Amino acid sequence: MSLIVQKFGGSSVSDAEHIFNVANIITKAYSQGNDVIAVVSAQGDTTDELIEKANEINSHASKREMDVLLSTGEQISIALLSMAIEKLGFPVVSLLGWQAGFNTDTDYGNARIEKVCADRIRKELDKKNIVIVAGFQGINKYGDITTMGRGGSDTSAVATAAVMHADVCKIYTDVEGVYTADPRRVPSAKKLDVISYDEMLELATLGAQVLNNRSVEMAKKYNVEVEVLSSMKNTPGTIVKEAARLEKMLISGVTTDNNVARISVINIPDKPGFAFKLFSKLASKDINVDIILQSIGRNPTKDISFTVTENQLEDAIKILEKYIEPIDNSKILYDKNVAKVSIVGTGMETHVGIASMMFEALFEAQINIHMISTSEIKVSVLISSDDVDTALNAIHKKFFSSIE
Ligand code: ASP
Ligand code: MG
Repeated sequence: MSLIVQKFGGSSVSDAEHIFNVANIITKAYSQGNDVIAVVSAQGDTTDELIEKANEINSHASKREMDVLLSTGEQISIALLSMAIEKLGFPVVSLLGWQAGFNTDTDYGNARIEKVCADRIRKELDKKNIVIVAGFQGINKYGDITTMGRGGSDTSAVATAAVMHADVCKIYTDVEGVYTADPRRVPSAKKLDVISYDEMLELATLGAQVLNNRSVEMAKKYNVEVEVLSSMKNTPGTIVKEAARLEKMLISGVTTDNNVARISVINIPDKPGFAFKLFSKLASKDINVDIILQSIGRNPTKDISFTVTENQLEDAIKILEKYIEPIDNSKILYDKNVAKVSIVGTGMETHVGIASMMFEALFEAQINIHMISTSEIKVSVLISSDDVDTALNAIHKKFFSSIE
């Protein structure tokens, strides 16, 4: 007998038919003699619809009230799913975040789990109940409802698995696992059998939407092995774990991110402290800077270019204008028509020439690189967004043609 945590995303519980499909998966695991905890997201687009509803009333509603509203999405899905399981004749209980013991900090809308007090879950399992838990939500020290940020149910599931020392943590979703690239854009993309936490974290942060990145951080921290798999197809998914690489692949995947903009500040003084001042001004307004490039100074000036997320571009420019414009001859330029393409793989730590393979693929496709950044297991390039699909396919082909 095992303790199994299963998580079902919004598309897996979108209507009655899908809910019964999920109820069957859960009760099958229970019938095999396992203890089962299922963590569930809101149905389909419910969370987006709730946000729209709020905007109709007050687009500046307090974050506290937003969380009271958004948490209702998961309340609906756990109740409906439990009713389906009752109908199939199994003992079941649904629990809201606070009942399941998810204690979070007070950052409404983006709360972090501080502690899971799982006594109630344990009691219900002892009574041989299937336990259905609302994902994405918790309670803070004021006794208020909090939510954990978009996609937060993944984190609820991994936290549950960690606290309960579950034998298995399965994240059921609408894709069959983690792919070498988005299969909708790269038809030859291949599902990975295994991926390491670090690679998954990079991919999640770089825009792959299969798993929420906080959930991967948590899985790594508590060494929870997670399987990402389809709720509609009965096939093995991708295991996320502290992996010794099983397949001989140089990289695990290629991703793209269109939500980037490039800013260049031109003709600024080539003096110590300038970059520090510039970036600390941006940081103080919570603007995340990603790829940075500084030109070699032509006495007495230099240029610095960097990327920000496109939705922070306006704010970044406002801050820079105040600071840069008074400087003689200086200029701020920006470009929204750029995209970031990244390759990720722990193979880079031991193999040389991986970055140059990526650049070769781009050269062969006649795509110009604006900026480059690297880390131990990642290479990112900034290119024109018009080229992004060509780049994605060219790079994928370069690395994975042998398995295509
Ligand atoms: N329902 C929430 C969302 O749509 C949480 C989740 O799905 O994980 O972001
Ligand atoms: Mg989701």
